[in-house]
Amino acid sequence: MNAEILCVGTELLLGDIVNTNAQFIAKELADLGIFVYYQSVVGDNPKRIKNSFEIAFSRADLVIVTGGLGPTKDDITKEVAAEYFNEKLVLDESSFNKIKEYFESQNRKMVEGNKKQAYFPKDSIILPNDYGTAPGCIIEKDKKILILLPGPPKEMINMFKSYVIPYLNKYQDKVLVSKVLRLCGIGESHMEDVISDIMRNQTNPTIAPYAKQGEVIIRITARANSRKEAESLIIPIKNEIYLRLSEYIYGEGDTSLEAEVAKLLINKKLTIATAESCTGGLIASKLINYPGVSSVFIEGMVTYSNESKMKRLNVKKETLQKYGAVSEQTAIEMAVGIAKEAGTNIGLAVTGIAGPGGGSEEKPVGLVFIGLYINGNVKIKKLNLKGSREKIRNITSIKALDFLRK
Ligand code: ATP
Ligand code: MG
Repeated sequence: MNAEILCVGTELLLGDIVNTNAQFIAKELADLGIFVYYQSVVGDNPKRIKNSFEIAFSRADLVIVTGGLGPTKDDITKEVAAEYFNEKLVLDESSFNKIKEYFESQNRKMVEGNKKQAYFPKDSIILPNDYGTAPGCIIEKDKKILILLPGPPKEMINMFKSYVIPYLNKYQDKVLVSKVLRLCGIGESHMEDVISDIMRNQTNPTIAPYAKQGEVIIRITARANSRKEAESLIIPIKNEIYLRLSEYIYGEGDTSLEAEVAKLLINKKLTIATAESCTGGLIASKLINYPGVSSVFIEGMVTYSNESKMKRLNVKKETLQKYGAVSEQTAIEMAVGIAKEAGTNIGLAVTGIAGPGGGSEEKPVGLVFIGLYINGNVKIKKLNLKGSREKIRNITSIKALDFLRK
């Protein structure tokens, strides 16, 4: 089976909103092993929507549409679908009652347009909307499958997970299992070099690497008759990748670098405090994303000015004068200073030039020092980053967490 995604909405065409629905559906279909060759966007125009259906079904067996199921006059997706399939719109009593109840429970008055939401092309399979008023539907006709989903992402995602996946699963004769390995501290091309022979020789499982800012992800996906069989195909490949890249792999599956670092600190009972200059609290904020970190994270300071570094962290005036705020010496004094101040096992400090201004030949934009104090020992890491202010700050926070992990 191959599918096509069509998102309806003039606001998408105008660039007012980002098409996150297509992104979500594309990922889910990939996980289901359903190929997607095309995605498109069309405005709220009946002729062009119908035309898009025609084009989509000339290339795909399954078309998934989002948007235009609402109560207003410009919400016309179902009407156009009925016309496309030459079917009448008929009232679904149960949807109508549910919409009525929804309005009563919210103490709101139901308008005529809401009744429209309970009409569907004849013989549709109705998909309940547990988070809003517009139900979705599936129309099966002439070996074509059209799935209509609401535009609001929360409603669409919930409907997709609750009803569309179970529906599509019956078309899958094989199961697809993916394992995700997360790496930090290695570039995508270097990583590909290291495992290129494994990647080349693989068809099942497939190995797909991709890079996110500061991280690399390897997705190993196997297709088999059962979950167990798929997993047994993945294990030897995964082991081989670990043999070559274990120092960079920080976690597997649905996790993040900060979560893994936080878990490590909690397990080792190591308390930490952070002192940040160019990252402005980003590192502290990331660590605090992890629930339960309060047992080890004591405090974080944003010591942006020289005065603050001296006053809060006891960085020596001479150090700042002699080496500058962005220097190995300052980073170390900051790390020691915050650990002493907070009484923690670990002090993590960063100081750098995030740009776009403020760089010099000797100290260019992107020069960053990470200082780490752990129970009496100090370590330092120097970075030479490139990119925008936002990118430099973000990569610095990732590198600092990775430094801590190692
Ligand atoms: P409603 O009942 O809210 O009118 P609807 O099914 O008619 O739902 P639309 O009117 O097309 O959906 O979109 C409603 C809102 O949902 C949009 O204003 C937008 O915020 C969001 N939305 C719609 N389509 C997308 C999309 N493809 N990606 C992300 N958000 C979207
Ligand atoms: Mg709408």
